Amino acid sequence: MPELPEVETVVRGLKANILNKKINKIDVYYAKQIHGDIYSVIDKLITDVTRRGKNIIIHFESNLYMIVHLRMEGKFYIKKHSDEVLKHEHINFIFDDFDLRFHDTRKFGEIHIQDNDYVDVGVEATSITHDALKGDKPIKEILLDQKKIAGIGNIYADEICFYARVMPNEVLPIDKYDLVIEGAKKILEKSIKLGGCTIRSYNSFGIEGHYQDELLVHGLDRCKFCGMKISKMRVAGRTTYYCPHCQKRNIIIGLTGGIACGKSTVIKLLEKKGYNIIDTDLIVRDLWKEEKTIKDLSKIFKLDHVDKSVIRDMIFKDAKKRELLNNYMHPIVKKIALSKINEGVNIMDVPLLFESNFDKECDYTICVYLNNEEAKRRLMERDNITSSEADLRINSQMDIMKKRKLSTFFVDNSKGEAYRIKNLDEVLKNIGL
Ligand SMILES: [Zn+2]
Repeated sequence: MPELPEVETVVRGLKANILNKKINKIDVYYAKQIHGDIYSVIDKLITDVTRRGKNIIIHFESNLYMIVHLRMEGKFYIKKHSDEVLKHEHINFIFDDFDLRFHDTRKFGEIHIQDNDYVDVGVEATSITHDALKGDKPIKEILLDQKKIAGIGNIYADEICFYARVMPNEVLPIDKYDLVIEGAKKILEKSIKLGGCTIRSYNSFGIEGHYQDELLVHGLDRCKFCGMKISKMRVAGRTTYYCPHCQKRNIIIGLTGGIACGKSTVIKLLEKKGYNIIDTDLIVRDLWKEEKTIKDLSKIFKLDHVDKSVIRDMIFKDAKKRELLNNYMHPIVKKIALSKINEGVNIMDVPLLFESNFDKECDYTICVYLNNEEAKRRLMERDNITSSEADLRINSQMDIMKKRKLSTFFVDNSKGEAYRIKNLDEVLKNIGL
């Protein structure tokens, strides 16, 4: 979606072409995007073209205004009268010497005709005030709220957060307000100079912007500053890019694997590197020792007094009961685990990383991989259990291949110690550590 710099580029393009001219005729091929009497602007002198946030305002004489919001894919093209009208050209504004065609493949664009230039949006993103930034919502959500700040979309919100070295999902500390304001101004003004971003399709008039080459975090794989792998998360329903190293005070790496996959040997290697290891199994073990846990679970399972071994047998065989236990345990474990995070690198050891959605809290995820056959052999030997018991345990968890696929990286644990060490070092190097 075009944001402030891209819309400003369109405004300048329109101004260069239509200022002090009159529309002679308007052909409408798709009317649903139009609100108001579009034909009323025919034969009226165009006195100015301005912008408010992401809205284009075309000023006509006699207090008539055409407000255009391009939304996802709206564009303007200057064409010859003789040029064939294309499928997605929904409105043709016919001038003396040329046609101005409104082109919109997605049909989300909007055109309003009104007798004033009022647009219901907040302060311009190039002149944000402290007041506009206030609130207990994540900073990216505030930046995207057009009623508070007009003109910023997904791309520039990520870039502004990077500039201010803040996480897009954090509530902005007051001491960072000035940096965000400065970042917005600098980034948007530089982008306007370069004609905005051309990411997916050509801008209006076929003008190609060049700010996409200047982006520091949005859509990138590596941080241009520190070399760390750029991470993604969702904020305000939008895909959000950030650099864990530059924008966070800590990095969280989720570590998972299958049963008996040799995860503990990988943990030992990570521990040696001085990283903070948070073992969620230990947290669970401690929880089982608490009277409150026993009380709560007795209630949930409608038993007189639950006991860890009773529950364990029950959940391996019954997916519904497993879900009940997980629904109770996961949020508590997550909260305790997150409270143990230190500055620097944190390894979050979570067997059910994806099942519990704990991966959403992590900047990167690593799966320790061992094929099922080998894992089963180790499990039978370790716990002295039968083949069918081992199958039950393995099948009660998410398939290891699926975990491997969902993870940012995986460490192959089936090829011996030397390979494991080398493979883990490669993964850490890939993250940027
Ligand atoms: Zn960085």
